[in-house]
Amino acid sequence: MAKKLVWGGKRSGAGRKKSEQPQKTVVVRVDEALLPVIKEIKSQYKAGCSIDNLINVTNNQSTEQQADPILIEGLQEKIRALEATLASQQETNLNLVYERDREHLEAMQAQGNITALKARNQALMRDYDELLHREHNCMAIKANGTRCTRTATLDQHKDGIVIRVCVQHAKIAKKY
Ligand SMILES: [Zn+2]
Repeated sequence: MAKKLVWGGKRSGAGRKKSEQPQKTVVVRVDEALLPVIKEIKSQYKAGCSIDNLINVTNNQSTEQQADPILIEGLQEKIRALEATLASQQETNLNLVYERDREHLEAMQAQGNITALKARNQALMRDYDELLHREHNCMAIKANGTRCTRTATLDQHKDGIVIRVCVQHAKIAKKY
């Protein structure tokens, strides 16, 4: 009877230890993106977390840890873009305000010049009118010291000087 070889084969106690209560497992095909969540669920479950709490844990994870970085990054980018747009618009607005103020000031100055010119023109017209009438008015001085405003019609000779006077002042002058 040939002696059996004693090496090779099973060592007693070798290999994976059987758990006291073997868990039934299934193979599921999932999206690769879900793998971190599933790994987290498994690790939490292994650590003794109840199934109800696992859902809460993964809910928190999906909002706080997994979805947020992408969302936040996108939002931050949008905010930066909006801030840049806003800053450039504010600069444009400020320039428009300066431009408007400058034009307003120029318009005010032009208006002021026009007003001043109008006033000057009116004053010159008054002077001209006064001078024009003075040529035709009686040159006599009234008792109250003001110039007679009646139209001069006669020449009056006095002390070698000829002045133009109205009828009334011509009469008065004759008395003297
Ligand atoms: Zn007179």
